[in-house]
Amino acid sequence: MNLPSNAELASILNITLENADLTERLRIVAAHEGRAVFTTSLGIEDQVITAAIGLARLPIDVSTLETGRLFKETVDLIAETEERFGIAIQRFTPRQDDVDAYTAKFGLNGFYESVEARHACCHVRKLVPLAEALVDARFWVTGLRRGQSGNRATTPFAEYDAERDLIKINPLADWSIEAINAYVDAESVPTNPLHARGYPSIGCEPCTRAIKPGEPERAGRWWWENDEKRECGLHVPEATASAIPTPA
Ligand code: SF4
Repeated sequence: MNLPSNAELASILNITLENADLTERLRIVAAHEGRAVFTTSLGIEDQVITAAIGLARLPIDVSTLETGRLFKETVDLIAETEERFGIAIQRFTPRQDDVDAYTAKFGLNGFYESVEARHACCHVRKLVPLAEALVDARFWVTGLRRGQSGNRATTPFAEYDAERDLIKINPLADWSIEAINAYVDAESVPTNPLHARGYPSIGCEPCTRAIKPGEPERAGRWWWENDEKRECGLHVPEATASAIPTPA
């Protein structure tokens, strides 16, 4: 019997995962043939997934992209999380040659000057390390949630990533922030102290600010760009991300 292609399996899993709880969703994915990789930003959603993987001892590799521009609180949380759940989080860092070339062309903080420069920085510091983290992976587990932004409102449980030829798994797609917080409390999950200071979504330090009451959860990310769908390119095709116009 022929095994389903990645695209076919993504469609099947999108239905299968719907009625399972978080741990079961991850267990189902891990039971399939092929390497499963979870990339964590150490944000609160990702901490819930890390906890589920660690507590159930699931064979899913946990990786993070250490961009070199993270908050100290985020970097400290990596080790704290490893200790809490007895797991190893693999760090993927940018290539120094790429960082040097970016800095020579745009300046270290050139990302404030144009969308092109910002995407170039995210490419060097996030997308290249992400590609390394996903080498040989069949499944890529993420912490995307429909409630995080309009851009993520239709996030499925499983989808085929044609650009990377892998199956993207979003086991928290239908979770509310209240459910996330309840899980964190119930399982004593360590979280980034910045969340309590008005940062619901945390990325690189120079590109993240606290949000004001009533603002969307991701309003503090690349706040100087005037586009509601701004993303770093991790979760949208790079061509699409690069096509976002420079704000007036
Ligand atoms: S979020 Fe900012 S500092 Fe981080 S990689 Fe993107 S542009 Fe560079």
